[in-house]
Amino acid sequence: MSKPIPKPTPETAPFWAGCAEDELRLQHCNNCGHVQFPPRKLCSSCFSEDVTWRTASGRGTVRSWSVVTLPGAPGFEEEVPYIAALVRLEEGPTMLSVLRNCDAEAVDFDMPVSAIFEDRGETKVPYFIPDGA
Ligand SMILES: [Zn+2]
Repeated sequence: MSKPIPKPTPETAPFWAGCAEDELRLQHCNNCGHVQFPPRKLCSSCFSEDVTWRTASGRGTVRSWSVVTLPGAPGFEEEVPYIAALVRLEEGPTMLSVLRNCDAEAVDFDMPVSAIFEDRGETKVPYFIPDGA
């Protein structure tokens, strides 16, 4: 079974368009400066509708992680074990993703990581790798 393909919504379409170009894109609020992920119609800080998409650096640090040994969804049978990680992006928001090119014993808090993108045909999906990996 193949991995699922993300289905963009009006709110998430710019994010997935960025991934297709190997870019993380985040919403910035033009009213209060808040940067948010996941995408929303309104700013989650001040509820302004005046939000703009900008390309993020793709860099972040590990806030927390867990080694997943049982596939949680069809299509991920050959992925396990993998490292599910909360990555604090340089711009502020935290993103749940997967660390690749990294041994579970080597993961540490605040470890610097960078985004990479897996091609799933119709789109690409972001993962993270340790800097220098
Ligand atoms: Zn705002």
